[in-house]
Amino acid sequence: MSRPTVLTCALPYANGPLHLGHVVEHVLADVHVRYLRSAGQEVIFLCADDTHGSPIELNALKKGVSPEAFVERWAVEHWRDIQAFQISFDHFGSTNSPENRHYAELIYTRAKEAGSIGRKDVEQPWDEKAGRWLSDRFIRGTCPNCGTPDQYGDACERCNATYSPRELKDARSAISGGALEWKKSSHLFFLLSKHEAFLRAQLKRPGFTNPGPASQLEQFFDKGLADWDITRDGPYFGFRIPGETDKYFYVWLDAPIGYIAATEQWARKAGRGGALDFWDAKADANIVHVIGKDIVYFHCLFWPAVLQVAGLKLPENVHIHGFLTVNGEKMSKSRGTFLNARDYLDVLDPSYLRFAITQLIGPGTEDLDFSLTEFRERVNAGLVNNLGNLANRTLSLLARPELGRRLAPPAEALGGALVREGLARAGEVARAFEGFDLRAGVKAILELGDAANRFVAQQEPWKKLKTDPEGARSVLSEAAEVVYLLTALLEPVVPALAANLARQLGRPALTFRQLATASYPLLDRAVPVGEPAPLIGRLEEAQVAKLIRVPPGDAPAAAPARAAPSAAPAPVPAGPPPDIDFADFAKVVLKAGRVLAAEKVPRADKLLKLSVDLGEGVPRTIVSGIAEAYAPEALAGRRVVVVANLKPRTLKGIESRGMLLTAGPGGAALKLLDPGDVPPGSEVK
Ligand SMILES: [Zn+2]
Repeated sequence: MSRPTVLTCALPYANGPLHLGHVVEHVLADVHVRYLRSAGQEVIFLCADDTHGSPIELNALKKGVSPEAFVERWAVEHWRDIQAFQISFDHFGSTNSPENRHYAELIYTRAKEAGSIGRKDVEQPWDEKAGRWLSDRFIRGTCPNCGTPDQYGDACERCNATYSPRELKDARSAISGGALEWKKSSHLFFLLSKHEAFLRAQLKRPGFTNPGPASQLEQFFDKGLADWDITRDGPYFGFRIPGETDKYFYVWLDAPIGYIAATEQWARKAGRGGALDFWDAKADANIVHVIGKDIVYFHCLFWPAVLQVAGLKLPENVHIHGFLTVNGEKMSKSRGTFLNARDYLDVLDPSYLRFAITQLIGPGTEDLDFSLTEFRERVNAGLVNNLGNLANRTLSLLARPELGRRLAPPAEALGGALVREGLARAGEVARAFEGFDLRAGVKAILELGDAANRFVAQQEPWKKLKTDPEGARSVLSEAAEVVYLLTALLEPVVPALAANLARQLGRPALTFRQLATASYPLLDRAVPVGEPAPLIGRLEEAQVAKLIRVPPGDAPAAAPARAAPSAAPAPVPAGPPPDIDFADFAKVVLKAGRVLAAEKVPRADKLLKLSVDLGEGVPRTIVSGIAEAYAPEALAGRRVVVVANLKPRTLKGIESRGMLLTAGPGGAALKLLDPGDVPPGSEVK
């Protein structure tokens, strides 16, 4: 067997559902991987959730759960969606794992020993009131780019600008509401500047990455490579830096190390040693990363330098694809074109999307536009009318009582040319899938389908059924050769449909490895074919229309993706929250209540459990994130405004029925709204 390839997709951030952009990358890599496996190569196909950093810490806090529980929930959902799209990862790991901690510490230690870690005092934002350092997501202020108030310290949800908290106007702590102070903290840096000569040579190596991005990265050399701050001051959700007090690795340090940790987890599971059997500089393996344009800096500059200094294997290839647009624009929540993987799966068969995505993706980094009209037209023309029709017409006629599903002996004069064309096309498909040019591969498959459909149309076997059944059988048997070829050619693209075709043909699917040395005839004519069935139904306009879902007004605005420290745009924009109809607002029932008692929630610093009288006879239990602002004993008798018709939620194992309204930036500066001196249960309007 050839030398194994470890192939990875970028690690999804465990901060929200997978969306169409993730699916595109996963399908792109999966088609390539399935082809390589079918051709007889060993590929270890890996991915993991990227779990650390302050966006996750903050969102976990908002949900009243621990960061560990928060990322666990997304891991379960991500894996469920990945399987539904038939992505053939050998392992899907997590960066919040002992394996990742081990390799983060190992790589850091090796980099330090090699003199590639430096130390420098840097000014960091400090919250005096709360007595803690503030990471970017715990800072709010006005966007320096578009002037939108109440934005995060690192990125604007409205214009997607990324910046440093220093640039933010009227920056303040999201925890206490207090102004930021800047205090010196000792930070560790990865000395990227020491690796310039090595990185310049890497980028020039043919095949290292796509030519366009490689030349764009030259600009970083012109500016001078900046040393990279790999430190975050605690509290931070991540790994502690060994030998330091309350310092953590910045999430971008341990995220790519997740590739190595995932290899370790897989290797142990598969009885194949450990990660270093593949990642040691001398190991017999190829490393390939598939990524989007937004994280090129990390994978082509930072990551190779880290690997090299730690004595690990450099990627053979970093394959970069373009950004996804929908109907020519960035995905947008307010226009309903922000498609989550699950939204799609709720409506349509994943095979349609896999087929459509492969028709979009060429070998380069140009943006990929998913047009809903083209989606339907391409699926119906290519998958349904061309390939599905060829298979169904051929196998249904062979299943007619006159023919009894039996094949004719080979008739090379009749079908030899068609099968030879098919084998030549298979070679084209192989080269295209190997080179990530999915579009060219599918084009060759569709041209073969056209040729076979023309052959059947010219021979008109249905006319011969009564008068010359053996003639009909002979024509259909030659057409069935092409259907058999499709079991190999379509497997990387639509694996479920390829398996379905093999079942209908009554034999195992072909592989690209078999096709490399195959010749006419491919089918053992003594073996009858199986039961025919339509391959897949037409895609109707009404079904596609269901994919566009303008969210209801009460849908929470998603946080922007974690901002990369380079100037790269955030991969997926979150639009401003849409206006809502009065009817939607009118669904909210607000009532005045009176707090009877309050207590702290164990293992939850921010939460209080309250008993609130809403004039219903039995008081309600409400869990509220006001513990930093109010001592429990100060709350008895206090009047509050409650969202009274919220569905019960379970927070820290406590069922909370209703929500208290507060105002202010959060943390200690939160204020409970006071309805005034009205009886409990009074409606607030
Ligand atoms: Zn802005």
